[in-house]
Amino acid sequence: MLQVFKFGGASVKDAAGVKNVCRIISRNNNNMVVVISAMGKTTNAMEDLVEAYFELDELAVKKLYDSIYEYHNQIVSELFEVDHSFNEKFDELFKSLWKRLQVHSSGDYDYEYDQIVSYGEMLSTQIVSNYANNISLLNEWVDVRDVIKTDENYRDAVINWGLSAQLGHKTFSFKNQSLYITQGFLGSTINNQTTTLGREGSDYSGAIIAHILEAEHLTIWKDVPGVLNADPRWYPSAQKLKEISYPEAIELAFYGAQVIHPKTLKPLQNKGIPLYVKSFIDESIEGTVIRSVEHQRTEVPVYILKKDQLFITISPKDFSFILEGNLRDIFSIFTEHKVKINLMQNSALNFSVCVNNIRQVNVLIDALKVNYTVRYNEDVELVTVRNYTTESIEEITSGKEIVDSQLSRNTARYVIKKSDWVFN
Ligand code: ADP
Ligand code: ASP
Ligand code: MG
Repeated sequence: MLQVFKFGGASVKDAAGVKNVCRIISRNNNNMVVVISAMGKTTNAMEDLVEAYFELDELAVKKLYDSIYEYHNQIVSELFEVDHSFNEKFDELFKSLWKRLQVHSSGDYDYEYDQIVSYGEMLSTQIVSNYANNISLLNEWVDVRDVIKTDENYRDAVINWGLSAQLGHKTFSFKNQSLYITQGFLGSTINNQTTTLGREGSDYSGAIIAHILEAEHLTIWKDVPGVLNADPRWYPSAQKLKEISYPEAIELAFYGAQVIHPKTLKPLQNKGIPLYVKSFIDESIEGTVIRSVEHQRTEVPVYILKKDQLFITISPKDFSFILEGNLRDIFSIFTEHKVKINLMQNSALNFSVCVNNIRQVNVLIDALKVNYTVRYNEDVELVTVRNYTTESIEEITSGKEIVDSQLSRNTARYVIKKSDWVFN
């Protein structure tokens, strides 16, 4: 039997986490590929580093680099003896990152982002793989960039499935090895330039590898007992969903249930590979399974909150209607700026969207302003309720200032002015 495990940043955020991950792996004797993300919040820290590098702010670069080094070094010092040979390898990785930061940027932000941010996963997998070998959990470290081949769409690269499958079978041959440890989130172009698959993309990496190798199942290990009917950090009485169909899970991920990356499900569904979501804190809890099931709907309403949204209303300056031509133009501006639309709505003269309030949005708005009048609402949140009931809608909307709403047969969506959430 072959299985794929994926561990996210929270599971390897400190030395105790690394030990726990190794313990979970060692309890499973099957042939296995383990996919790991960057440690803790390293990807966010790396993003700040890219920002400082682009702004030519040498002081900030040094400060951020040092804090990333300190964070990892603390973990390494707890896992390895001072004279262990891994310490040298670890310092070499940091030296190569530092060297990269001293070279003038190519000016291509997305390209440089991928080259720098990828160090997060390189570091985490080297640390876990070497530690595992050290405690006789024998494994082979694999550079996933030799397996997952993509196009050159940096920061949101598209998989070359044929080539990746070919390389995957060769690399993960399981001839003399039963355990491989590799990176999530990363891929590379035909010319071996590093690419990334989009933020939170390690779940997707797990699914790609499971698909290619036709694994028995993929298990993603989280800090929650499974997929719940809401984010427990927001909605305290969230309850676990035992079983979800692929299409329903795709919908939940699409609307922003952060627990699974939206691209994860399709490669699994196509080969009928079940996805288990389990707790790395307590393995004995059953978790959630996503697979082909008769009943498509979940038994309870599912609440999905997307914070930090911007509600943008776009109107043609020439008073023309919002028709296909204008929409094509507007969509191409969104595509060009890599801004994803979370909700859209149109009327005769206005086209409105809800998007994540991220750095690229300012540039997008400037581009839209050439031909359109643009108004926007900051400080809004987007709430989706799947399989809603009258009570669940009441629960979400009572006392709230609603900026926009959409109701379909199974899904209710509200753009809501930000205020504190109080649930009874
Ligand atoms: P990873 O460590 O794999 O990157 P994430 O932090 O991205 O994991 O995802 C796990 C988090 O997702 C949980 O801690 C939880 O707060 C949040 N979350 C959001 N929606 C849900 C949901 N419907 N069910 C479970 N967890 C959810
Ligand atoms: N480390 C990457 C991120 O934080 C990928 C992942 O964790 O899934 O976005
Ligand atoms: Mg994550």
